[in-house]
Amino acid sequence: MKKNGKTFIISGPSGVGKSTVLAALFQGREDLYFSVSATTRDPRPGEIDGKDYHFITADAFRAMIGEDAFLEYAEYVGNFYGTPKKYVDEAMAQGKDAILDIEIQGANQVCAKRPETVRIFIAPPSWEELERRLTARGTDSPEKIQKRLLRAKVELESARCYDYLVINDTVEAAVDELRAILQAEHCRPAERIEQLAEN
Ligand code: ADP
Ligand code: 5GP
Repeated sequence: MKKNGKTFIISGPSGVGKSTVLAALFQGREDLYFSVSATTRDPRPGEIDGKDYHFITADAFRAMIGEDAFLEYAEYVGNFYGTPKKYVDEAMAQGKDAILDIEIQGANQVCAKRPETVRIFIAPPSWEELERRLTARGTDSPEKIQKRLLRAKVELESARCYDYLVINDTVEAAVDELRAILQAEHCRPAERIEQLAEN
């Protein structure tokens, strides 16, 4: 019998490198599903609708809330973000691991509903480096960057509640650690004993 996949949450301050590290992790991995969130924020240059996010209006977002279409949703620095439930559940039913790049309020909602979810926090090697990366990305106004940095201070304090903490110093090392975490989570006795019982 085919096993359901697991859900992994990746959180971390804006600009820490979550998208960059996840893009590298997904290379050649048909067994992983990236959960494409819906958001009311504007696309950044290079972002593709349906691949990076589903870019929708506030009205459409509210309609999805009304339809109970979100596994979780939250407001973040003036915009709404939510995880469409349907695709995550479909991917997991196909045996894929679902990877959710979501912030902390959303992570708490998912874990309250699904306590077996694995939470991974990605932290910057230093505060100065986070500020440098946010600025270097060049996609946010100085005002937005300051708001994101303020939010980052609160977020870093929440890292303690996560199951794992990965420091994104180099992309290669961070991806290696993520791969190791995913692999280790599939060696939990409950899953392994079920596998053994099937043999
Ligand atoms: P997030 O998705 O967490 O908001 P991004 O993936 O957009 O962050 O990365 C923010 C910026 O930092 C980008 O310009 C990216 O190229 C850069 N970056 C990401 N990881 C690293 C790293 N390990 N070392 C140096 N720069 C990085
Ligand atoms: P950004 O605007 O930089 O792409 O994302 C801002 C923040 O929103 C990041 O911390 C990201 O993890 C989070 N985020 C993205 N999608 C979702 C989502 O569906 N739900 C929640 N709760 N947060 C999300």
